[in-house]
Amino acid sequence: MRRVRRSGVLLLALCLLQPFTASAADSVETTLFDGQGGRLEVLISAEFQPQMQANLLVWVEFIASALKQVYGHWPLRKWQVVVAPASSAGGSDPIPWAEVFREQPTRVEFFTTARATPEQLHQAWTGYHELAHLLIPYRGWGDAWFAEGLASYYQNIMQARAGVISEQQMWQKLYEGFQRGLQDTDSPAIPLARASDKMRQEGRFMRVYWSGAWYFLAADTRLRLQSGGQRNLDLALAALNSCCGNQSLSVPEIVSRLDQLNRVVLFGILYDELTVSTRVPPFESIFASLGIDVVDGQVRLQEDGPGARLRQQIAIGKTL
Ligand SMILES: [Zn+2]
Repeated sequence: MRRVRRSGVLLLALCLLQPFTASAADSVETTLFDGQGGRLEVLISAEFQPQMQANLLVWVEFIASALKQVYGHWPLRKWQVVVAPASSAGGSDPIPWAEVFREQPTRVEFFTTARATPEQLHQAWTGYHELAHLLIPYRGWGDAWFAEGLASYYQNIMQARAGVISEQQMWQKLYEGFQRGLQDTDSPAIPLARASDKMRQEGRFMRVYWSGAWYFLAADTRLRLQSGGQRNLDLALAALNSCCGNQSLSVPEIVSRLDQLNRVVLFGILYDELTVSTRVPPFESIFASLGIDVVDGQVRLQEDGPGARLRQQIAIGKTL
């Protein structure tokens, strides 16, 4: 789900109003292929000007290729992207709303401003975030922190691998996300499982999203460190996608299959730890193990050392 960065109230208002509806009618349809059997139907509203339709198609191709980089193919054999104009031109966000619909086929809807430039679209994190949701066969409800954390982690990785942001920017964005999550904590603090279940009512979006992102950074880092770079989160999730990509799974089912398929005792333990956590867990030791220092709120990346090499692979997307 698209989130509004600093205002849970605004997001809730958007949800309640349901301001956007997308329709396949009056759309221009294009079919894209990933060359590995994947088929993507892109439906772009005919309400956009012809040049804008062309720009939007180029953008969808770009973010779809960023998604392809994770597994070497799209996570789904058949899926749809629908792009429609946002009803209001207010604000500077080129994509005011987006959402994944877990239907047959899975559909991602984007609402963009009518004059968003190609540059603005490529830079908008929302495109990468929404497509990253497709990496797991999530049934669509329960443990929202897990699905949103995955998307929040991979939106940055996908942008770095696609060349939209540098490795330095990627880690800076993760650092700033963890800081937003830490600032968005109740006192007295409640367990993540409850904050996640009550997210729409109580609005602790940043805590929920960035606790989830911490989960995936922690899992990715442990896999890489324990295997000397031979294993990683991309491969672990790809194994799940191969076996169960067409299923509709709860998060407890997903974490147990991730452990079974990858022959690790990791995802379930981390799940148990995180659901009872009362704030975003410490990330400093993870950063240190990857050769990342933080000085005055700015990340500094070490150039050399085993941690630095493992870290660089995250932004490049290849195993050592
Ligand atoms: Zn989301």
